[in-house]
Amino acid sequence: MKKQNISGFATKIAKMCDRKRQFPINGQLELTYRCNLNCIHCYCKEMENKDQIGKVKAFTHQLFGRDKKRFKYGPFIFPRLNGDKAPCDHRLSPEELLKIRHSDSDMWQEYKKDLCEALPKLKREKDYLYHCNSWMTNFFITPYGRLKFCALTDNFSTDLKKEKFREGFYNIFPRLLYEKFKTKSECRNCRLRPVCYQCPGRAYLETGDEEAPVQYYCKLAKAILKDKHSFN
Ligand code: SF4
Ligand code: SF4
Repeated sequence: MKKQNISGFATKIAKMCDRKRQFPINGQLELTYRCNLNCIHCYCKEMENKDQIGKVKAFTHQLFGRDKKRFKYGPFIFPRLNGDKAPCDHRLSPEELLKIRHSDSDMWQEYKKDLCEALPKLKREKDYLYHCNSWMTNFFITPYGRLKFCALTDNFSTDLKKEKFREGFYNIFPRLLYEKFKTKSECRNCRLRPVCYQCPGRAYLETGDEEAPVQYYCKLAKAILKDKHSFN
């Protein structure tokens, strides 16, 4: 493997993070697609370890203290970036997710607070495809040197071997703002869209189509609405 000197790059990034210039505040360099670092979020299988979430939380408290913000339960499992959906077999059903939230008072309070609020409104007009804004502050660089706004999709990415970082971050990423639905996707007019986890990146990874509904997220959104009705 070719040895790279990244110290110059790191210094450059640090300089550009100067707040006045509003530069990205989060960047992720993916070292390899054949990662074997055994990170906890990879080897913790949701289905098999669902009864151990409390223990994982206790462990983070042991490491970092009892700060509520330190532990966030993120229940999402995505297909592999090559489209292999095998990891999705480990997803939990909406009922199982509800059971987990119910089993922990912090998680339950947070979920209940959202349930008690009215159905949120969409952040932009419904014809716009992208409703996210993390691209304003985040970037990802793949092992092949592609600069991406989102880990899940190559759309609006650039090749850093040919283009400058600045071009990708400031000129290519913002183009997603203008993307509109081109199909008659069910998601376009869906009233559950403000609480649904479907988004172009996730849909693309799951179905190969940025606009397509994803059945798992449909089920989750319907379950959230049902929970909302039972609270209001
Ligand atoms: S995935 Fe299903 S619930 Fe979500 S916005 Fe699309 S149609 Fe609606
Ligand atoms: S996962 Fe979806 S919401 Fe998040 S950055 Fe990617 S496209 Fe946007």
